[in-house]
Formats: sequence, C-alpha cells, structure tokens
Amino acid sequence: MSKRTAVMAALVPALLATTVGLTPAHATPRAPAAVVTLTYDASAAGPWSDSIAQAVRNWNDAVHNVRLEPAGSSGSADYVYEATSGWPEATLGPIFPGGYGDVQLGQQAVNEGYDATRITAHETGHILGLPDDYSGPCSELMSGHGPGTSCTNAKPDAAEAAQVDSNYAAGLAAAHRPRHQVVIDVWSGRTRTGSH
Ligand SMILES: [Zn+2]
Repeated sequence: MSKRTAVMAALVPALLATTVGLTPAHATPRAPAAVVTLTYDASAAGPWSDSIAQAVRNWNDAVHNVRLEPAGSSGSADYVYEATSGWPEATLGPIFPGGYGDVQLGQQAVNEGYDATRITAHETGHILGLPDDYSGPCSELMSGHGPGTSCTNAKPDAAEAAQVDSNYAAGLAAAHRPRHQVVIDVWSGRTRTGSH
C-alpha cells in the first residue's frame, strides 16, 4: 500500500501538470476536457487475456471521453485484471488515473456457462462507473447474468456508452471521488436457497 501511495503521489501532480501544459493560453473556458486515459495491468489475468483485449476494444470503440490502455509497467496501472477461481467482482468506479480499481475475473462464472468476453466487458463497466442492471436485456452489458448463458453480447448499448461518457465528461476535474465500493457478481441462473 505504501508503495502504491508513493506512486500515486508522484503520478497525480505529473498528470495534472501535463493536462495544464496541453491547454493553450488562449483556450476558452468552455473548451472540451481532455480524454481521460486509464491504464490497466493484465499480467495476472492468465487465460482471460484474449477476452480482456476484446472487451477493451469494445469499450474504446463505444466511448469518447475515456480510453483504456495497457499500463507501461504493472506498478503504474490505474486498475488491474486478475484471474480468480470464485465469482467475478470489480471496484465500482468511475476509476480515475491515480486511483485504484480491481477486476477479479472469476472462473466460476465461466463454469456456469457464461461468455468470458461478456463477463470481462461487464466487469470493466463497473470500473467505468456503471452499476448492475440484472433485469435488463442482452443488448446491455450491465444486465450481466440476467439474460442467461445464451447471451454473449460483449458491447455496451448506447445508453451505457453515454453514461460512461458522462462519468468522464469533466476529465480529470472529476477525479476526486469518495471511496469506491466493490460489486460482486454471482453469474448464476440458479435460485439461491438456504443460508449460504
Ligand atoms: Zn456486475
């Protein structure tokens, strides 16, 4: 934790300085905010690497105010993808540069028959600040396991993309947020009973 804190302390002023430096002196106050670049580390995601690459492409194709890119080094990443044996879970963002997000790509959801790329794109949606909407249609990413295992859609719909663009519309000016919560997704169509 102390190492990351040190990295953040070093990174945030550098990013802010860069943003200020890019703004021309004669820019109007209404100039659009710079695109926010979020970096990720997938070095611990093992078999999910293809799904991560596709999910990232899908998000980058759909939104304009934030861009996802592999981190130059794992210690500098704004969020991480990691393979786990449990249920998928993710930090509920929006995550900003210098913050910390964690996506756990849980094998248990794949074992239940859900599409790995849809799972990855859904969990990435949490990083970008979208909540779950399990009752939504397959055309939504954030409906998650709701539409069942036959749903393999891994692209956000227009409303989801618009919400993410809105979350990042102010650029780095919106970066100071309260502590994030973690969303745990049980990707299962089974009815849960008992006290488990
Ligand atoms: Zn979810």
